[in-house]
Amino acid sequence: MAPPKLPPKGNTDSEDSEDAVDTPTTMASTDTTALPSSSPSLAEKAQRCRAALITALSPSEPVDTILLSGGLDTSIIADLAPLTHLGLKQAVTVVCTPTAPDEAYARAIAEKHSLKHTVVRCDDPMSLVGDEEGGTLETCVRVLKTFDPMELRNAVVVARALVECKRMGAKVVATGDAADELFAGYSFLQGLSPGKLKRWIARLSRPSVMRFCAGPLAAHLGLKVFQPFLAPPVIDFALTCRRSDLIRSIPNPAPTKDTTPGEMTTFGKYVLREAVPEAYSRWRRKDPIEVGSGTTTLPKLFEEHTDPAFVEAEKARILREDGVTIRDAEHLHYYGVFRRVFASDGAASAENEDQDMDARQYRLKALFAKCGIERYGDDPCLECGFQIDRLDSWFCVTCGAWPARTGSPEGDVQEGDDLDE
Ligand SMILES: [Zn+2]
Repeated sequence: MAPPKLPPKGNTDSEDSEDAVDTPTTMASTDTTALPSSSPSLAEKAQRCRAALITALSPSEPVDTILLSGGLDTSIIADLAPLTHLGLKQAVTVVCTPTAPDEAYARAIAEKHSLKHTVVRCDDPMSLVGDEEGGTLETCVRVLKTFDPMELRNAVVVARALVECKRMGAKVVATGDAADELFAGYSFLQGLSPGKLKRWIARLSRPSVMRFCAGPLAAHLGLKVFQPFLAPPVIDFALTCRRSDLIRSIPNPAPTKDTTPGEMTTFGKYVLREAVPEAYSRWRRKDPIEVGSGTTTLPKLFEEHTDPAFVEAEKARILREDGVTIRDAEHLHYYGVFRRVFASDGAASAENEDQDMDARQYRLKALFAKCGIERYGDDPCLECGFQIDRLDSWFCVTCGAWPARTGSPEGDVQEGDDLDE
């Protein structure tokens, strides 16, 4: 998924290198966190983790294709596949700029396992988000029922990759979904106390809290997805992890052009890196999909391509007429497609509503009836009026607002949060 219901700021790391590097086979951790002597060691945890992953990588039907970003998560699937009955035959990678870091890693992994590898190149990221009818963006908006920029930036890359999988005759497609959520891959999680991190992961692991675009987009294309990090043994294992199993600072074993050898570096998903030491991308740091593939530049590109006065005028008009808060040029573009797909303007008119608030409310409720998500119900988003999908979430999956309710999320600090147990 683009991260589910995460604060919109802070889940984008960009510190990865563009240089593929060899991975050392051993690295002594210098983490000094004190652990109870009865706790399993990291080495024991890594063994359990590996067993859970191998169990998860034994599906009931062959998985012929992988969406290969070349990050740690997809590297683990591809690099463990030869030990399982997965049956991977081909891989697809999407890159939107010549400097997108995914490609070198993905190429190396595909070559290592003799996978037929297709790299889909888009001249520039804007070509993935054109507003043409039936285009990639419109498909994502229609299937996912959203105009959240962070979700769509990610989804258009996944959709483009899945279309290629379909063209290549794929039946079942593997993705690395959920590894970042269950094993603390996002950089903003590094600042959480052990207790708070554990609760964050426990909440996401509940059924249907995590949302990933690959499933619905694949179903739309008649494909199946295989998401091994969402398999029960892997989720069960993740719930046993302490902060120190997931996040550690070590001398950087894979220095890049931006870092010096031996520089202390903090890695999330640490136990995964220990569990699969043969993973080609073992010490690659996290890139969210929109950075790895190059769509991270979209907000800036939209800003450059759109007249600021037009954006401001449209923001005012849309708030007045549709009751939707538009944040910037990119958001405006996605909303335009969402509106075209889901709005029904014929039901009522905006005229003379100043005197009749009920008429306005009725029209706004009915405007997006085709979308199927309630508007102005008992828990509407402050910025778009669509129902917030969960009581325990402050994020609006329709427009991307956070916080989407008045007040602020609870502090969620509990006694003993500093104990890593
Ligand atoms: Zn909203």
